[in-house]
Formats: sequence, structure tokens, C-alpha cells
Amino acid sequence: MLLELAIGDAYGAGFEYASNQIVRENNRGERYFQHPRHTSILPGQYTDDAQMAIAVAEVLVTESHWSEDILAGYFLNAFKRDQREGYAKGFYDFLCSVDTAEEFLARIRPDSEKSGAAMRASPIGVIADERQVIEYSALQAKVTHNTPLGVNAALAAALMTHYFIYDLGPKQDLGEYIASKVPGDWNSPWKGKVGALGVDSTRAAITAVITENDLKSILLKCIAYTGDTDTIATIALAAAACSKEVDKNLPQSLYGNLERGAYGYDYIETLDKKLMALVK
Ligand SMILES: [Mg+2]
Repeated sequence: MLLELAIGDAYGAGFEYASNQIVRENNRGERYFQHPRHTSILPGQYTDDAQMAIAVAEVLVTESHWSEDILAGYFLNAFKRDQREGYAKGFYDFLCSVDTAEEFLARIRPDSEKSGAAMRASPIGVIADERQVIEYSALQAKVTHNTPLGVNAALAAALMTHYFIYDLGPKQDLGEYIASKVPGDWNSPWKGKVGALGVDSTRAAITAVITENDLKSILLKCIAYTGDTDTIATIALAAAACSKEVDKNLPQSLYGNLERGAYGYDYIETLDKKLMALVK
């Protein structure tokens, strides 16, 4: 799950809020694309979505008890040890300005409705108990996004992977399943550009996973929406990678050119194995 999640983020990062023309001409799914403006993010480099999902996966494989304090510590650590851009400017400056989990929690204003809590929630779906998936997804969301829309988007993203990992039904019924658990319009097909709201990214990801049957087509569809493409692709590929109905056909070039380094491909692959070993 985590490798595909990171590939979705890194691939989508090249097209984040890029023009329709750039997306139309370059969204081929064969290689990473250099974003025309975000030149500090190189092709194959992942962004905040995967970095924060890695932090959540680390909490899952390491901690037996969850708290806002523990979560804030892992979010902060993942950023400080491997600082990168791609975060929203305000949150990036905030992370640079705090040194401890206590300071994080004391100073954060968790009133955002954007996608930050959803983009990192997918790993939580490995938990077997659905009520615990919901509880932990909400807990981690509230650290930064303590709003109904921010939290609901996170619940939906985590339940997407949970649905496939525990084989709870056909891919076609994913939206119906999410709608039965989380308030929101999850079962209407998404169309058009995706903005900053987490519920919109997650709904677009659900539509992409339902309508396409292989990872590459799902990735292409996530980017073709335009807008917050890295977040849509992060959420969609994490879930789709867990579905037995989805053909795992991402080109080798996307695996081969995902960033290396201390927290790159090898680190993610190892963490991914530990994460999936939690499945019961
Ligand atoms: Mg991002």
C-alpha cells in the first residue's frame, strides 16, 4: 500500500494545480513529471501526503496506545528528519517553528477543513476492527483538522483501504459502503477540478477507484481531474493497491524512479511490509 501511495503522491505532485493543457499533454503515467513551478520538488520526490502517511504508518507499527501527543510527535519527527516542501505554506512554517510535540499541540490551530488529515489516513485501514479504524482516524485528524469536513474526509480515506484489505464487498460498492459509515455525499461520481477540501479529494479518489480497473488507469484519472492531484492520487492508489479487483500494472519506471535516500523507496518498502503484517 505505502509504495503505491508514495508513487501516487510523487506522480501527482508534478501536476498539482497545473493547467489543463499541461495535464492533457503530459499525463501519460510512464514517468514522473517536473512541476512547472514547484522546482524544489524533483521528479520522483514525494510530498507532505506520503511523508505524513509514513508518520501514521510508523505510529501503527510502533505504538500500542494512540494519543494526540504521540501523533504530533511522529508528524513533527517525520518532517524534521527529512525536511521538504510541498506542505501548505502556513503548515510548513508552523512545522519549522515548533520543536516538540507539546509545543505543536499548544500552538496548532486545528480548524482546517482541507485535505491534510485525509491524505495521511490510508494506513489506518489495516486495523481489523472497523470501530477502531474510525476512532483512530478521527483522533489523528483532530490533531490538525478538528472540523467535521476535515475529520470525515480522513474517516473515508481510512475506510477505503479497510474495505479492500478486509474484502468487505465489490469495488463497485465502495462509495455506498463509505456513505453508510461517514456523513457525506460519497456515492455520487465526482467530476471536474478538485480543490483543497479533503472531502473533495477523497470523493474524487473513490470515483477513480470505482470506475477504473487497473492502477495505471486510476492514476491517470486522478490527475485528469486537475487541481489537488497529488492528494487524490495518494488516497486512490493506497486503496486501489489493496483491492483484488484492481490490476497492479504501474510501470516499473514509477517504482524505479521513486526517490531513494534515507526515507525513500527502501525505507517505504520495509515499513509497508511491517504495516501489512498488522492485517489480521
Ligand atoms: Mg502534497
